[in-house]
Amino acid sequence: MIVHKFGGTSAGDAPRLASVADMVLTHHNQADDPISAQTVVVVSAMSGVTNRLISGARAAAEGRDSVYREIKAALLTRHLDVVETLLTRSRERLDVGGLVEDQLHELERFYRSIAMLGELTPRGSDAVTSFGEQLSCSVLAAVLRERGVRAQAVSATDLIVTDDSFGAAMPRVEATRQHLQEQIAPLLDRGLIPVITGFVAATETGVTTTLGRGGSDFSAAIIGAGLDADEVWIWSDVDGILTADPNLVPQARTLTELSYAEASDLAYFGADVLHPKTIRPLIERGIPLRIVNSFNPGHPGTLIVESPGADRVLLPSIISTTGLSLIAIGSVDDSWALQMAARALQKLSEAGVDVLMFSQSFSEHSLNLIVREQDQGHCLKT
Ligand code: ASP
Ligand code: MG
Repeated sequence: MIVHKFGGTSAGDAPRLASVADMVLTHHNQADDPISAQTVVVVSAMSGVTNRLISGARAAAEGRDSVYREIKAALLTRHLDVVETLLTRSRERLDVGGLVEDQLHELERFYRSIAMLGELTPRGSDAVTSFGEQLSCSVLAAVLRERGVRAQAVSATDLIVTDDSFGAAMPRVEATRQHLQEQIAPLLDRGLIPVITGFVAATETGVTTTLGRGGSDFSAAIIGAGLDADEVWIWSDVDGILTADPNLVPQARTLTELSYAEASDLAYFGADVLHPKTIRPLIERGIPLRIVNSFNPGHPGTLIVESPGADRVLLPSIISTTGLSLIAIGSVDDSWALQMAARALQKLSEAGVDVLMFSQSFSEHSLNLIVREQDQGHCLKT
């Protein structure tokens, strides 16, 4: 069984969604034995939708009602356009069109309650941002059905159980596995293609959470691990993981095969193609991960496995990232001691600040830290 995850740019508009459906069908029908013919699809919101949803929520909290109403209206038009372009059977078109309208009506109710409270909490933000995936998932499942396969939209709020760290929730592995085995495995046995929302999840008591921005890759890995998939494929808009950012280095080449550890490092420091948390659930079960290009589906992409083949071509890579801050902590006199560095790191870890790198100066008078720009203020206060 293969889990195929499609990101927002792969599902940006009607023509892109149509080609996503074609790619799913090609792979689903190509498999020669019934087990590898099982297909699970995980889908992100259409490109830009999550950002719009957040803008609407902020506008609601600030009492700018016309802004969130416009956002809701624009999202309705955008999704209904896809429904009207791609769904020609009147029944499916009516059903899914109605569903999209209901979902966006519900979104507006959320916006109104945020406006009433005058405050956007992390919990409220997760509730609102989850709508993007709910919408794209209903539409893609219908597009697949229109092409003659049995596909069913499934919300990951019924599958992935997390803690309540809204905005970056962490999955509870066992409970999630049980849900996947109980709810998704039977659909696969009946030959259905489950189309599951990326990014979203829920707590044990059913409160909607999200896995963090770009988290649909992580969803695909969690789902693949819980279902013991043969492989997880992340369909993005580049030919795999490259030796450098192709926007900066046009000659960048695709890395054909990487180990989990190498891919983790590349994902963590820059390579935007993969959410850094994606690898962990797969390592535990030894499930191979492929990064492929939905705009160039013939390209083999990058294969990420436990131990890459001895004959793979080794290429040096450059990682680059932006939005980091360097912070120096020190003492003006000779009172600096290594314990102070330990205390500083301890405090930052308790405050939830991600310290990406640290070093002590040769003179042993200061500690240099690299943190994300958005954490800088928080870090200095701590
Ligand atoms: N739609 C979510 C986001 O924009 C998740 C994802 O795209 O993976 O962050
Ligand atoms: Mg992504």
